[in-house]
Amino acid sequence: MGDEASSSASSAGGAARWWRPARRVLLFLILGAIVNVAVAWGYSGIMSYWCPVIGVFDTANHEQRAWWVKNAPSEAGLIAEGLSECWNRGAKVDWLYSFDESPTTVYAKRAMAGWPAFALQGSCWMTNGGKRVANRNAMMVGERVIPALPIWPGFAINAIFYAVVLWMLVAGPRSLNRKRRRMRGLCANCAYDLRGTPSGVCPECGEPVEPAAPPRSS
Ligand SMILES: [Zn+2]
Repeated sequence: MGDEASSSASSAGGAARWWRPARRVLLFLILGAIVNVAVAWGYSGIMSYWCPVIGVFDTANHEQRAWWVKNAPSEAGLIAEGLSECWNRGAKVDWLYSFDESPTTVYAKRAMAGWPAFALQGSCWMTNGGKRVANRNAMMVGERVIPALPIWPGFAINAIFYAVVLWMLVAGPRSLNRKRRRMRGLCANCAYDLRGTPSGVCPECGEPVEPAAPPRSS
């Protein structure tokens, strides 16, 4: 009985040791994901729709064809004929449209956004006459398409990227602070004065005491 109790207590301690850093990693990943979405939406919001490139829809482009067939609402024609692209550093919008310019003809704005990788996608469909037909995983703010469906693995790559950046912003000053305390003879963790304390652990917080860097002879 006693053995059982002590082993379950020690395994609970192990779980706590494992959970603390895991919880911190999770927190930074969530913050990284939030920054990722903010950056993607920011780039979508500043998109200029003065599109310099106007091309002909490549009917041999299977990816674009498949995308159109999968997403086009019933009001849209069978396949697009024209293609324009707008982009900035962190967002890209393809206009897929028909050469039939009648006001009821449907065209699509297909958006991808995110930096360093594309992380969100979505599309808005409307008629030449300005009537909105459908939004697919996207919101329209003015004429801008704000995509909302994650693209994998881009979303995860960006979330990890921003988590690491945030981690460095937090951990960098922290490790500098610990180093400064250690050099002044204080506990790196709680700043308790360790001068006159035999080396071992900090009596205040239990932090193992690392020997201070030897004074430089200049
Ligand atoms: Zn301490």
